[in-house]
Formats: sequence, structure tokens, C-alpha cells
Amino acid sequence: MPKFTAATLGCKVNQCESESIAQSLTLSGWTYAQNGSCADLCIINTCTVTHKASMQSRQAVRHAMRTNPDAKIIVTGCYAETEPDELKKIKGIHRIIGQNEKHRIVEIIKKEINYNTPCSSVCEESISENGFMPAPAIHSGSRTRAFLKIQDGCDAFCSYCIVPYARGRSRSMPVERAIESIKNLGEAGYREVVLSGIHLGRYGIDLTPGTSLSLFLSLINGLKTIERIRLSSIEPNELSPEIIKLAADSGSICNHFHIPLQSGDDGILNKMRRPYTREFFKTVVKRINESIPDASIGTDILVGFPGETDSAFENTCSLIEELPVSYLHVFPFSPRNKTPASSFPNRVPAEIVKERCARMRKLGNLKKALFYQKAVGTIVNVLVEDKRDDANDLLKGTSSNYLSVLLCGEDEIKNKIVKAGIDRIDGRFAVGTICSDIYT
Ligand code: SF4
Repeated sequence: MPKFTAATLGCKVNQCESESIAQSLTLSGWTYAQNGSCADLCIINTCTVTHKASMQSRQAVRHAMRTNPDAKIIVTGCYAETEPDELKKIKGIHRIIGQNEKHRIVEIIKKEINYNTPCSSVCEESISENGFMPAPAIHSGSRTRAFLKIQDGCDAFCSYCIVPYARGRSRSMPVERAIESIKNLGEAGYREVVLSGIHLGRYGIDLTPGTSLSLFLSLINGLKTIERIRLSSIEPNELSPEIIKLAADSGSICNHFHIPLQSGDDGILNKMRRPYTREFFKTVVKRINESIPDASIGTDILVGFPGETDSAFENTCSLIEELPVSYLHVFPFSPRNKTPASSFPNRVPAEIVKERCARMRKLGNLKKALFYQKAVGTIVNVLVEDKRDDANDLLKGTSSNYLSVLLCGEDEIKNKIVKAGIDRIDGRFAVGTICSDIYT
């Protein structure tokens, strides 16, 4: 049997798509090259969201070539889509497959690449717009939580972001298929489905008839086959009062929202082409907090955008300090070719970006510690994973409001949702005690 490897960089959506490719290859008679054995085919599914991601993508290509000297090398993903010429400089790649031809990758491998010819650098970009590429759900390491891609692409064109160039326009998985996929995951034993997408808040707008994320959530809310639905990330202007109300009233939509802020300064938000203000973000966070006081509210901060003065950065810090934010993902600005921001003046010097990132991450750690501390004495619903924590052999799980929880208990509650009281915080975990009743 011919063997393959698949290396994936970047987001959960990319991981879902690699899983789709691997499954199709397996169905076509390929096996995964195990334990370092050499492969006949290497697929590298790249990312280009930052300069570092592009560099790591090139490294992954070179690593695959070095460790599999006789393999055909296929490169796909966002970096392949946006920078095929850079990839062509690496001798020995057999095919560069554009983002929108990813769904045909196995067909291309079968029909268009001759495995009996010696390695040649046949590079061909296939950059075209196409429909929604379905991808099977991937799991989180244990088979309790699955990530399901229901949306792809983005129409927003924020001035710093390469994603719309790499993934094209927003498109959605049809509602019936999405519901079916969620039911199938529930029947396969998963307890939680994380709805994933590049711009999840645009879900359904492109469908005929059009729909919305809130309507979709109301359809899946309370489905008997799945206990928990979590949203991966949603833009502040798309986290509608209806969605917050649905989550507040629902036993199945998790008390967890990840809403990218990027900057707390209106001038910078405007230059970023983010369609909201600092005040609006505050309103959304306060609305969540009033409706669901124990909700986890995470956000992304982009540090060092061109023109970010000390006072603009202070505006971001003060907004985060003021709001009940639970954790931060902090990224330094990375100029991406083709994006307007790559040629914006007033670049922030690298050492200042580094200092600001360090300060913002420290603030993020503090917010996280406060959120965890606030949870002590509360009772939360914990989905227990099917693997124990390596360090102390305790059961571990995740609460609806995104606490990582350690529990003492028997194996029989693995992959179940239990009620637990949070007793104390130990490092990055909330340590709890299971209450008498097992929830599901
Ligand atoms: S919303 Fe903005 S930041 Fe997010 S993927 Fe779209 S363009 Fe990029």
C-alpha cells in the first residue's frame, strides 16, 4: 500500500480540511506512514496568517523533503494560495494546489501526478473560487469534543488580514448537512461540538434561502443527540443580543464567547477596518456579563499595528483592564503582502512591539487568574475527557465556561458531563469535587 504523511499548519479549519484529505486518501487505498517510515506522498497544508506561519510552512515543506527523499511533495493551504511563487523557489515540490482546489486534491493526486516518473518541479497553482469544501470533524485529542467546520472564507477585508485573499468569499455548509453532521457526531459518542469557521458570524448569509448563525443555533439548541455546542470565535458586531439570549436560556450552548477586539483605540480600529468602536465592544461584553455572569469572554489583541502610539496602546490596556475579559490571545502585527496595512506608514519599532506584547500577555495572565479565582465556590458543568491528566492521574475536563478542571473520580464518568464544585486553583487548573448527580 502506498504511504502518505500530512503536515498541517494554522487554524482548526485547516486541520479539519487536512483530516478530510487524509480520509479521502485512506478510502483510495493509501495508508498513513507510521513511526517515521518513509512516505510516498507528503501533503503540507500551509498557513500564512503571519510572517512566522509562512516561514514555518516553508520549513515544513523542506522537512518533508528531507525525511521522505523519494516522496511526491504536494503543497496546499493559505500560503500556497497566496505565495505560489515563493514556494516555486523550493526545488522538488511536485504540485502547488490552491486553497479552492483543495477539495479535489485526491482526484488531482490520482489522475494528474505520475508516481513512476522521477521527482520534477511541476508547480501549478489552481487558484479559483469554489463552493464550500466539506470537511469531517476533528477531535480535540480525546474523543469527547469535536470541531466541525460549518463556514469558510471572509468578506470583511480587515486591512491587515490575508485571510480573504487566501480563502475567498464567505460560504457556509448547508443547514441540513450541518445539522446532520452534528447529529452524527453525537451518535459517534461526542458530547460537545465546537462550531468552527473563518468568519462564523457570517454563517448562512450566502445560503439560499439565507439564514443566520442565531437562527441556526436556535435550530440545533436542545438537539437530543449532542449535549454541548460551543462557538469557536465570533466578531463583536455579529454576536447579536439574540445569540447571547439563546446561550443564556440554553442548557447546551456553552457560556463561552471568543470575540476578537484587536485594539481598544478607535483610531486604530478604523485603520484596521474593524466595523465597531471601543464603546460598542464594551456594550457587547457588558451585555454578555449581565445575561451570563459566569461566562468566559476571550479576545484577540493585535499589538503594534502601524500608527499605534503609546496612548493608543494604553487605550487597549485600559479597556481590557476595565472589562470582565477572561483570557487574551496576543499577536504582534505582521505585514502580509497584498494587504493595505503592509504599506501603511508609521511602523512601530520591533522592540516596542515586543515590549507591548509582553505587557499585554502579562495582563492576559492576570485576567485569566482573576477569572479562575472568581470561579472558586461555584458549581459548573464539566465535560470529562477520556484521558486522565498525565501529571497527577486526576480526571480532567472543561467546563461550559471554559475552565480547565481537574477532578477526583472513577473512570466511569469519563466522557460524561458532571456537576462539580470548584474548590481551589492549582496552576492552570481549577480543582473541583464532583457533586452527587451525574448530569448525563
Ligand atoms: S474578519 Fe477580518 S480578521 Fe477576521 S478573517 Fe475576516 S478579514 Fe481576517
